[in-house]
Amino acid sequence: MTFEQKIHKIKLCQFIVNSRWLIHGAIALTAFIHKFMGGSELNVYIIFIFLFISYAFNFFYYMLLRRDPREITSRSLNFICVFQFVVDIFLYTLVVYITGGVESIAFIFYFFAIIMGIMILRERQIIAISLFALVMYVSVIFLESTEGIPHFFYYDFPLGVYQNIDVTLNNVTTIIVTFLAISFLAAFITKMIRQREEELMKERDRSHKLSELKEEFVSVAAHQVRTPLGSLRWLFRSMLEGDAGELNEKQTKFLEEGRDRTDNLLQVLNDLLDVSKLEKGALVQEMKPVDIDNIIYQVIEEQRPDADKKEVKIKFIQETKIPLMRLDEQKIKMVIENIVDNGVKYNNPGGSVEIKINQRNDTAMISIHDSGIGISGKDQVEIFKKFFRTKLAKQKVQTGSGLGLYIAKQIIEGHGGRIWFKSAEGKGTTFFIELPIKE
Ligand code: ADP
Repeated sequence: MTFEQKIHKIKLCQFIVNSRWLIHGAIALTAFIHKFMGGSELNVYIIFIFLFISYAFNFFYYMLLRRDPREITSRSLNFICVFQFVVDIFLYTLVVYITGGVESIAFIFYFFAIIMGIMILRERQIIAISLFALVMYVSVIFLESTEGIPHFFYYDFPLGVYQNIDVTLNNVTTIIVTFLAISFLAAFITKMIRQREEELMKERDRSHKLSELKEEFVSVAAHQVRTPLGSLRWLFRSMLEGDAGELNEKQTKFLEEGRDRTDNLLQVLNDLLDVSKLEKGALVQEMKPVDIDNIIYQVIEEQRPDADKKEVKIKFIQETKIPLMRLDEQKIKMVIENIVDNGVKYNNPGGSVEIKINQRNDTAMISIHDSGIGISGKDQVEIFKKFFRTKLAKQKVQTGSGLGLYIAKQIIEGHGGRIWFKSAEGKGTTFFIELPIKE
């Protein structure tokens, strides 16, 4: 049994234990109703004894399953799984006996054990506990009819059925047939469920391995390309700075184009690497108290030259001063940077990007509004998906990875926050980020 299978089995067992509190409580309640409203001859103490024994055992299983899973051996877990049903069947036999033996309909309770057994037992174990229940039941009926044990009358009037061989035989054979049929059906269902579970596990392992391979490929490929690309960018920049001699207008234009393309490619590679880190669950790491306003100021300063070039104004409205927050500073900066950058990129000359921050109870709300091209209703559902870019955005800015917002969503949710947006085509977009303030 793998550790994961063990955890799964422990959870199922815990579910059965929790159900048992209810089911056995309901059985006792039914007995009280029979006693005080249905006029049965049941002894009240026996109900308490049933409840006491069953709850004592259940408490024992409960405590055992609460232990650290590493301390529970597979053997003891398997033992508990079967043992609890053996105890239940003993108790149900006691109930059958004290409620009139062959005249009682309490044999129905055995089905609780079989149905719950489907969840955690193997098909052979199901058949074994069903046969055990049958043997217990038939023994009680047999001993009663041969006066080996006294008969309990459930009602004040003697039915006399328990010694009538025809009624006894008819009832017992019907119950045996029903029992066998149900136990075989239950065993069949169990087998089907187990097979399906195994198939699913195999399928999951396979896709897990595949996605690991894919991530590894992306990360190796990206690292391999990043270094030469970095050198290429450096070459473009130094040539543009005149290190290789004076440039004419055409040469400058070509080199600028080259520099921008390599910049973009590097950005895409970095995004891809972030996604692969993210999928390994390693993106949000360094949580420390930070001043979020400060992050926004830094982002604005860094974006301003680009915004000026595109004639887009950036404004910051600090509605309330936010206390220090526990965040992964670099990652949150990356998110805000991406959204502000989009606000500038997908904007029109003369447009604006307005960032607001305020505190709402124990959360910080950041809104980033732009007066740009907007996102159509049809595209809005796709926005946070990997590699998605709208047609409108592609027309405006050819380059882009479509990964920024996907990464942003993972980072914000990794901080226990939320990110969403409102937009209308041609009118602009507002992104909202809500982050919990944990000082
Ligand atoms: P990228 O900007 O690199 O394409 P993002 O993940 O940051 O990738 O954004 C995904 C897509 O969402 C963009 O390509 C664009 O179509 C759309 N989008 C994001 N922000 C805005 C915005 N402020 N205005 C209009 N469209 C936007």
